[in-house]
Amino acid sequence: MWERPEWFEVKFRCIRCGVCCVGTEMELLAEDIERITARGYKLEEFAEERDGIYRLKNVNGHCVFYDPEKRLCKIYDIRPVGCRMYPLVYDGKSVTTDRTCPTWNTVPRSEIERLAPYVLKFLEDVKLTKVKIRLRT
Ligand code: SF4
Repeated sequence: MWERPEWFEVKFRCIRCGVCCVGTEMELLAEDIERITARGYKLEEFAEERDGIYRLKNVNGHCVFYDPEKRLCKIYDIRPVGCRMYPLVYDGKSVTTDRTCPTWNTVPRSEIERLAPYVLKFLEDVKLTKVKIRLRT
């Protein structure tokens, strides 16, 4: 279901401020890892495993792929599904918008409704990343 990551793009007004790239804890799907390693990056360069979940690594306090000078993501075209779903998050009760994002209130309710089932599925599937990666190597 994650073959077309662009489908999970939230339609809202992102101002590319980079706030969401600071201190990232973004979970990675096996599909994200495959896409990024196919670009030539090594798993240990961009991901770390904590509590059985693979997450994007931070360097100097921000995502390893964030360029603070250009304020750009170095892998924007192939960025992880979780980054595409942001600022949608699960707050423990329901899918909502992360108030850390300065333009969270520009996410239409229709986008929350469209993507909520996938956010929940994403949170289940990232638990399988470790096993899937082990099977594929
Ligand atoms: S914090 Fe929000 S507005 Fe800023 S780059 Fe991230 S998604 Fe875009």
